[in-house]
Amino acid sequence: MNFTDTTVVVTGGTRGIGRSVSLAFAAAGANVHAAYLQNEAAAEDLKVAAAALSGSITTIRADVTTGDGAVSLIDSAAAASGSIDVLVNNAGIIRDGYLAMMAESDWDAVLRTNLSPLFHCCKWGVRKMLARRQGAIVNLSSIAGISGTPGQTNYAATKGAIISFSKALAREVGPMGIRVNVVAPGMIATDMTAGLKQDLVERVVSGSALERIGQPDEVAAAVLFLASRQAAYITGQTLVVDGGII
Ligand code: NDP
Repeated sequence: MNFTDTTVVVTGGTRGIGRSVSLAFAAAGANVHAAYLQNEAAAEDLKVAAAALSGSITTIRADVTTGDGAVSLIDSAAAASGSIDVLVNNAGIIRDGYLAMMAESDWDAVLRTNLSPLFHCCKWGVRKMLARRQGAIVNLSSIAGISGTPGQTNYAATKGAIISFSKALAREVGPMGIRVNVVAPGMIATDMTAGLKQDLVERVVSGSALERIGQPDEVAAAVLFLASRQAAYITGQTLVVDGGII
């Protein structure tokens, strides 16, 4: 896949799945703008990793749960070419716990971090894409949003909402040449899953068809496909990348 001369925005683009997405786009020639919240070391490390690639990666500290953060991200990404071609909404968090014991702050934090960026970044991203009547948006959901996971009612609620949001937006902006799709990963080896109880990870993985954890670059491949010309007639879809968990 060739993304030469395309402008790509990746939220949460400096660690985990987002890092692999940023690197894969840059390896395919894109000018990537990767947003992060606070981890400067990861952002610096990504710039070093990108140095030899044919495209480029610019890292931007921007809290995309806020309108201001999203606007500064999208505006700075569009500064050079006047628009953006691809938007990947990847930033997300977990705050797991059984509902009966869940703190309201954990409910609020997950809804805010996993859903608000979708509103802000898609709104400002679509405004840029409309000028050229073309663009591709890929939103990161999770199998938790399809099949549900105990201890993740807050997370599952947001990940299900990402799928329905994307279907609605796909119908809204399809006539303007903009496609919207979703990637729903299963259990992927990142900092997020490193923080889970490892016997739980093992149990989920050993019950899957492929009997192994997924790697971030295996999710990135699906994101690039949905953003590419090869997927020109695909919109409103959810691609599950879970090694056969569900
Ligand atoms: P990580 O925890 O490894 O990385 C999260 C990234 O999001 C970091 O770059 C972080 O920045 C950034 N981020 C968090 N909050 C914000 C914010 N408010 N503004 C900007 N950036 C922010 O996550 P993963 O790579 O594991 O997950 C990526 C996506 O994939 C998430 O949406 C997740 O729900 C989804 N997913 C992951 C699965 C997995 O098994 N890992 C499975 C299914 C779905 P910083 O480095 O500064 O903290």
